[in-house]
Amino acid sequence: MPELPEVETLRRHLAAVGLGGSRITSVYVQWPRTVFEDVHGCTRALSQRAITGVERHGKLLLLRLSDDSPVTIHLRMSGRIVFGAESPEVTPYVRLALSLEGAGWMCLHDPRKFARVSWGARASEQLAAQGTDLLSPTLTEAAFAVELARRRRMIKALLLDQSIFAGLGNIYTDEALWSARIHPERLSHTIGRERSRVLFRAVRSALYQGIRHGGTALGSGASNFRVHETARPAHQAYLNVFRRTGMPCPRCGATIARIVVGQRSTHLCPVCQAFSTTMGVTDDST
Ligand SMILES: [Zn+2]
Repeated sequence: MPELPEVETLRRHLAAVGLGGSRITSVYVQWPRTVFEDVHGCTRALSQRAITGVERHGKLLLLRLSDDSPVTIHLRMSGRIVFGAESPEVTPYVRLALSLEGAGWMCLHDPRKFARVSWGARASEQLAAQGTDLLSPTLTEAAFAVELARRRRMIKALLLDQSIFAGLGNIYTDEALWSARIHPERLSHTIGRERSRVLFRAVRSALYQGIRHGGTALGSGASNFRVHETARPAHQAYLNVFRRTGMPCPRCGATIARIVVGQRSTHLCPVCQAFSTTMGVTDDST
């Protein structure tokens, strides 16, 4: 499932090929659930509209229309954007396609059918429900630490909650917690101000590295992330703990373990990320 670095990689690609500045001439919907069964509403809202910008909030890709209203694209498990000259009716797995003036079709290719596209009020509500984007310049280390201190939740669950901070999924959360040497089940308010700041920098570093490497792809299946055929994501080669169960920790050599936190598969170094037995006492010295 694409996280912030994968969606940002896609956004940069779409901006580079000039999607912002193109005009939608018609809309094709193959799978009504992609647009919440509202095929006519979608066609009406998007046809004959200009796309003025390609943006991102957390894991949501956003097309800005000429009246400044947003269209959100949530890629979920297997969504991908592909461009083609061929009619989308004959292309397998295309659930929604936008005909762009003079530029063929922009297709939402989605074998598993979980991707969703919203516009108008629904898109605005969806954006309003999102927490601060983790790369937002307005988000400071201090504000991040305050948010952790005032909540009493397992840190991994908190970081995955898009209504608090937007952008992290399973991969980059495990990587950031490993970098910051924090156990994923540690309660957020026990982490302490200094260590929270360390975690904030680890989160940003994990996200920026992911972007630098064009995102992460974990297999070769049809649902795997890739922006287009010629650009292969490379960050999988740089992961320290995610899906490395049984392998040595790159920092201390201990065997990486897999546990389940909030129903999510979680990877950690049991030595570097030992659970503090002094609950409620911060371990800023470690
Ligand atoms: Zn270790």
